[in-house]
Amino acid sequence: MKVSASKILYRYPLRQRKIFSLVLVFLFFFAPVMAQNSNSHHYKIRKVVIDAGHGGKDPGTLGRHSQEKDIALSIALKLGKYIEDHVKDVQVIYTRKTDVFIELHERGNIANTNHADLFISIHCNSSPNKKIYGAETYVMGLNVGERNMEVARKENAVITLENDYSQHYEGFDPNSPESYIVFNLMQNTYLEQSLKFATLVQKQFKERAGRRDHGVRQAGFLVLWKTSMPSVLVETGYLSNPNEEKFLMSDDGQSIIASAIYRAFKNYKTMIESQSNFTMAPETTDQAFFSVQVLTSRKKIPPDDKIFKKYKLVLEFQEGNSYKYTVGRSTSYEEIKNLRKQILSDFPDAFVVGVRNHKIIPLQAVLKKKE
Ligand SMILES: [Zn+2]
Repeated sequence: MKVSASKILYRYPLRQRKIFSLVLVFLFFFAPVMAQNSNSHHYKIRKVVIDAGHGGKDPGTLGRHSQEKDIALSIALKLGKYIEDHVKDVQVIYTRKTDVFIELHERGNIANTNHADLFISIHCNSSPNKKIYGAETYVMGLNVGERNMEVARKENAVITLENDYSQHYEGFDPNSPESYIVFNLMQNTYLEQSLKFATLVQKQFKERAGRRDHGVRQAGFLVLWKTSMPSVLVETGYLSNPNEEKFLMSDDGQSIIASAIYRAFKNYKTMIESQSNFTMAPETTDQAFFSVQVLTSRKKIPPDDKIFKKYKLVLEFQEGNSYKYTVGRSTSYEEIKNLRKQILSDFPDAFVVGVRNHKIIPLQAVLKKKE
């Protein structure tokens, strides 16, 4: 039997009719939005930068029989090959494919000028305590313990081999704890995605590669400082531990590490690409405010896209080849955090950013100003 919606409505008392109408209105307005969510404007991971740590005159940390730069390069090349062979829609960019010295800031530049979607820096660790072994993955962040600081200090020390390093790193001195304060001002735009990928890497290390899991950590790594995409630094193991050194020097060991990172990459790609996308309405103001970033897209999204009907204010920002979209506007951090919570069901990756003069600016910059 065919019944129209209006006929159905009259069979119910007023209150229920009202509820039913609301449901219909909801379906009418939001069903197309939901359908659209699942199939259009999808952000894709297209480029990944693989960064083999150290190289050339900088050997990195030294094991009894090995140098960090060689192991990092072997793992990086294997990882790149897995992605090239099996994930055809992704372009792999290497910061180095041979034993050459590349300055830290140049590694980030390579990723930025190529508009990469992910930056993976590969390293090996060491400790005066030869019993310590295991793998850990770092993201750029402020949740810094003393041990993390020590790892960052060692990895950053390489800049003293560079020419003009004080110019390239704004006077940063890798050996001065005070220098690390500079990271307080850094933009945390990619922290959440970086943490996601780092977590997937550690999960693979632990569950599939049989490595001791030292977890995901944060510290101030210069190589991750200015990359404008999710970025991690993987410490694949300790060359100071004889067993782990042997493992990391072996072709098998390197394949196991590379394939663990490769599986994490595939999982990350699937996760990111299955999430919903967004847009729009340019906005000029001199006053800094908070907004919630919901989407980055390679494609500009049309202003009349139904997806934004649900939201009163959507802002668009062009950055290089991509477009970023934020929702809402407030000078109250509490208010914007509440808005983010409400948006999470549609955009699980939404995060709070600062905005001023048409630009997304570090959240810290807005928070600081208000203090
Ligand atoms: Zn290193």
